[in-house]
Amino acid sequence: MKNNLKQNYLENLRGTKLNSKEFYNEVLSVKTIPKFNYSWATGIAIGKFLNGLKEGKILASICSGCESKQVPPMLFCHECFKPMVKMEKISDQGRINTYSLAYINTDATRRENPEIPIVIDFDETINTRRGEPSGILHKLDENSDLSKIKIGSRVKAVWKNENDRIGDITDILYFELMEEN
Ligand SMILES: [Zn+2]
Repeated sequence: MKNNLKQNYLENLRGTKLNSKEFYNEVLSVKTIPKFNYSWATGIAIGKFLNGLKEGKILASICSGCESKQVPPMLFCHECFKPMVKMEKISDQGRINTYSLAYINTDATRRENPEIPIVIDFDETINTRRGEPSGILHKLDENSDLSKIKIGSRVKAVWKNENDRIGDITDILYFELMEEN
């Protein structure tokens, strides 16, 4: 009895009845390729750092209080909280702080040769409280000899051609292993 009432109700509704093909393909669906343009402020210190990369320079910030020299540059010191008012070009050489061998791409497909993300400690940085250097995450040359990759291995930046640089972290193509002395 209940089902009959429901059936009567549905049959007496006004409007045009749609089958599922009409419903999903013709009435309520829109097919489009979205294109979202956006801009993202880098901030003062990182903005200067990225502009430095465009010129082939690694810029470190220098603390007005404790003389820490840090990469990536900051506006205030993470050691003593004083303003970091100066920036200075430092060497693009350093040592591997840590690394990984990544055999899986971001879309989960397998790689034959690993991508090698590394954290680089730049030689000329100094953290006054801990006495340690600082640096950035980047990647090592994929053609590197895997047996020579160690924590502490020496590396240097390989830059894009000057005319191709855009003020982005990819202005450094990768880091390469240096011959140990
Ligand atoms: Zn400081």
